[in-house]
Amino acid sequence: MARVAVVTGGTRGIGEAISLVLQEQGFTVVANYAGNVEKAKAFTERTGIPAVRWDVGDHETTFHNCVDIAARFGPIDVVVNNAGVTRDGVLHKMSFDDWNEVMRINLGGCFNMAKATFPGMRDRGWGRIINIGSINGQAGQYGQVNYAAAKSGIHGFTKALAQEGAKFGVTVNAIAPGYIDTDMVAAVPAPVLEKIVAKIPVGRLGHAEEIARGVAFLASEEAGFVTGSTMSINGGQHMY
Ligand code: NDP
Repeated sequence: MARVAVVTGGTRGIGEAISLVLQEQGFTVVANYAGNVEKAKAFTERTGIPAVRWDVGDHETTFHNCVDIAARFGPIDVVVNNAGVTRDGVLHKMSFDDWNEVMRINLGGCFNMAKATFPGMRDRGWGRIINIGSINGQAGQYGQVNYAAAKSGIHGFTKALAQEGAKFGVTVNAIAPGYIDTDMVAAVPAPVLEKIVAKIPVGRLGHAEEIARGVAFLASEEAGFVTGSTMSINGGQHMY
């Protein structure tokens, strides 16, 4: 029977590409999303992949939705923690809400998903948790203390949980994308984006599918010896 993979924020951008590539690899994929119902509906019509709406920053709701997905589709063997938001601003203009929301969704979402699925993976002796970090969590970024802290936290979370899962066949890895041509990057002002592209040795933004191919490898049987690692996919912008 096909293994079940849940992709948070899986209906658009990088998450959509991840959902599609995992489907192509033979997984039964369920995509989560936050509130963009039109995009989610169009995604399901196009791909046949079910989309389930909930806020991954909410602990209880995440737990109940994972129980429900397991009951409908089978035990969750692969989790891709991809859902993420930005609330950018320099520190003196950043509100506590901006800080909290980014920590709650980007980092708290990883904890909530792991709490709901890691024990089952451990009991069954197989699992894959793949967390989407960021180049800005590795290197920092002006105007993003909240986002950089949350993404940097994801890299620490990955290494700690990898140690807990290793003996039980559960690998935990991160991918740190550089700048990828999605809605999130479309929100960056053009002059700022030009300066960013100028710093990418490969000379262009990345494509969502280039991140998804890394996820597919980490989710595969062949990647069983890879755990606690961070795969940087950034066109050479930050060599870590
Ligand atoms: P998008 O903004 O294009 O999509 C974000 C996705 O996350 C959407 O599906 C959205 O749902 C979902 N989402 C947001 N908040 C929540 C929530 N509380 N609960 C559940 N789902 C939620 O983002 P990208 O595709 O650009 O980014 C995907 C991931 O990659 C993020 O973690 C981001 O930080 C990271 N990343 C992106 C980079 C880039 O250059 N684009 C670079 C480095 C990292 P809905 O559609 O309903 O709003």
